[in-house]
Amino acid sequence: MMPSSSFHPPGCAHISRRDFVRGAALAGAGVVLSRVVYDAWEPALAAAAETALPAVTTFLKQDQVAELLKIARGKGAKFAEVYGEYTINTAFVVDENELKRVQYGILSGVGVRVLDGGVCGYAYADEFGMPALREAAKVAAAIAAKDAAGPPKSFAVSKAVAPFKLSRPAPLFSTETEKIELALRANQAARAKDPRVKQVQVTLADTAKAILIANSEGLWVEDRQFISRIAAQATAIDGTNRQTGAAISGGAVEDDYFDRAETPEKTGTRAAEAAVTLLSAVEAKAGSYPVVIGPGWGGVLVHECFGHSLEGDGIRKKTSIREHQFGQKVCSDIVDIYDDSTVPNSRGSFKVDDEGTPSQKSHVVEKGILKGYLWDRLNGELTGNQSTANGRRTSYRDFPIPRMTNTYIAAGQSSPEDLLGSVKNGVYCKNMGGGSVNPADGNFSFAVTEAYMIENGRITSPVKDVTLTGNAADSMLKVEGLGNDLHIDQCTGTCGKDGQFKPVGVGQPTVLFSEMTVGGTRG
Ligand SMILES: [Zn+2]
Repeated sequence: MMPSSSFHPPGCAHISRRDFVRGAALAGAGVVLSRVVYDAWEPALAAAAETALPAVTTFLKQDQVAELLKIARGKGAKFAEVYGEYTINTAFVVDENELKRVQYGILSGVGVRVLDGGVCGYAYADEFGMPALREAAKVAAAIAAKDAAGPPKSFAVSKAVAPFKLSRPAPLFSTETEKIELALRANQAARAKDPRVKQVQVTLADTAKAILIANSEGLWVEDRQFISRIAAQATAIDGTNRQTGAAISGGAVEDDYFDRAETPEKTGTRAAEAAVTLLSAVEAKAGSYPVVIGPGWGGVLVHECFGHSLEGDGIRKKTSIREHQFGQKVCSDIVDIYDDSTVPNSRGSFKVDDEGTPSQKSHVVEKGILKGYLWDRLNGELTGNQSTANGRRTSYRDFPIPRMTNTYIAAGQSSPEDLLGSVKNGVYCKNMGGGSVNPADGNFSFAVTEAYMIENGRITSPVKDVTLTGNAADSMLKVEGLGNDLHIDQCTGTCGKDGQFKPVGVGQPTVLFSEMTVGGTRG
């Protein structure tokens, strides 16, 4: 997904206290502690996970957080917040039939945010040392220039409940050897699928993140977030014909997911099959067609064409076309759209957002009518709205902005076969690539990675180099049919906005659009 907007909270600026991560000092400090976070966990598992991923409170105590909040409000700002993070990223890359690269990184530090009306001060330090953090808090405080703020509230631990719990999260409970083995298995399966598959690249990447959010209103909440995935890319070659296919699996999953739910063999095979299918694909004839988009990742279209225009910064600044459309018909009558951070096992889900607001399911479009926007704290407050748990940030180095979580079109009534059967001459998009929307005029363009012609209600020949273009303003008004086969893609999406990247889920059932412009090389 491409960045599709470029808004900043007013007056907000990054100020780095240090140029470089000093994670090394923390890497050895991983053994802890007597906190009771995993009430529903088996104690032994909780202890093991605690050791592998230390909580932020290992490094930053409650009295220290209270001191930082006091400094941050030292110039009289209304609101201050401390966001601490300890993240472990690992990646294993198999290329040219062998393990080529291993990456391991720790990202840890603290961001201090101060809000005073519409003005935001943000400073961070790439460490947990109090001298640097006090300095960061002072810098953030400088946006306000009054007397000291009133007395702070005492902390109350958030009662937010995680939408699902992992007892053995894959990033922590699979060993390095097991992760490498999974990547090698996907590679072997892709190569074994067809002799024309000549190149395969597989990446197993995962993230284990511990966060702490505390603010001057007394909020105190911790969360642990885990995502893991296998991405396979296969290239099939036949003479001068060269085609690439891709497949991804994973999500916020347990350590046995890749053996139980989707094996690496399946992922590797899917990538190879897509590449091989494209070898026999013909070029699409450009024109306007009925288009059917398959379930799951096809929801990237609603994310780009619709979701971004609901984000609270664009609404508050009135730069979004949806700003004046609340309560109006914006989609065809059969369309319901949700942004839902509680979807089980999705990379877009969490217990609390990056401002500590408990996850929720927001019904943003009901029977075609626009019913809601996506708010963070700042933009919500400035417009008299509650946060909808859409305040998200890439890391402690970034201030939160309104972002989607898992965005999807709800299931409809039709069978996918009936939808396809109703199309005389059209295009079936089984798998989508990336896409982007120009925020200025709403024009969008999407690459389709796997597409077929629909002739007399049946899927026929594969077509290649297909792009879908249109305008975000009316695309969802052209939804003519919805399948009963909703699928939420929990492993693929990474959304970029203002230089910040966040994992997201997207989803939809099979969707029939009455008409869309299909670009191809054949005129
Ligand atoms: Zn996006």
